[in-house]
Amino acid sequence: MATPLSAEETLAALQAEGLTVHEHAGWATHNRDAATGKSFGPVIGVLIHHTAGHNDKELCFKGRSDLPGPLCHSWLGKTDGLWMIGHGRTNHAGAVDLDVLNALREEKSPLPLDNQADADGNDCLYGLEIENTGKSDDPYPDAQYRQAVLWAAALCRAHGWSEKSVAGHKEVQPGKIDPSFDMDDFRAEVKKQLDLTVGKTAPTKPTPTKPTPTKPTPTKPTTGKASKPRVDLSRLVKAAKTDPGAKQGHVSYMAGTNLTEAALVKLGYLAKTYAGDGSFGTTTIAAYAKWQRHLGYTGTEADGTPGKISLGKLGDTTGLFTVVA
Ligand SMILES: [Zn+2]
Repeated sequence: MATPLSAEETLAALQAEGLTVHEHAGWATHNRDAATGKSFGPVIGVLIHHTAGHNDKELCFKGRSDLPGPLCHSWLGKTDGLWMIGHGRTNHAGAVDLDVLNALREEKSPLPLDNQADADGNDCLYGLEIENTGKSDDPYPDAQYRQAVLWAAALCRAHGWSEKSVAGHKEVQPGKIDPSFDMDDFRAEVKKQLDLTVGKTAPTKPTPTKPTPTKPTPTKPTTGKASKPRVDLSRLVKAAKTDPGAKQGHVSYMAGTNLTEAALVKLGYLAKTYAGDGSFGTTTIAAYAKWQRHLGYTGTEADGTPGKISLGKLGDTTGLFTVVA
């Protein structure tokens, strides 16, 4: 079983890989384990993010009003270097695709398409947030990218994993776009690094078998990849009626909203930047209204609140989901 590295082991592994590591005060005991009643681990891989902003080290430590910190295990500044932010369960991955988790655990490649958000990614993945807006006018300095490679390689090496245990957030959760660089290129760099021999101080934990991630919703059908994820119409309608009036980023029905947004992105009605936060906000309402008008609806029938027919057609057209009423 892949038991998470202790704080000391994490530091030793990162330093042995050649990284200079800065420690945020309190990082080694900063986690979500007690608050959620869920402990971190067993672990199966590492996840790469971009922060979608700048100067966000403290944000990643403290969290947002709707998402308590820590928001990652490590934060990698554009020029500020690598910082330890949390140790244990952290709020970086959210709800992710179980098929992709299984592929990571088994180190299969390529990874399957992330078309569901049916498993807890915060339980089993280490998370790195890289300071970058994710926009094309914000390049990753070579030194920053290199440190991200070393971070991933260090954790893989410590656990005896290959580069196939590395994923981007965009590969595990529908609608996510981070990180903005190519993950196959990134994994190729991690592999190159893992092929090198580094200092003997890196702890190696034997990992004969990785654990199977558990599905938090046992009532779901388990017929495998052939069955499409389902969106519950009544829950989605409730989200569309609740989220826009609630505070920014309010989440009522994360999995269904993310699938709906992923479908709207696929058809060009919603910009990727707005998808994947699980909130059926005003931008999603506007995008959904465009889809309804495309289907010929007008007036209150095109107000952006999903209906059975429009949602069914959205799922069918994109092939992303079926609807349950
Ligand atoms: Zn992310």
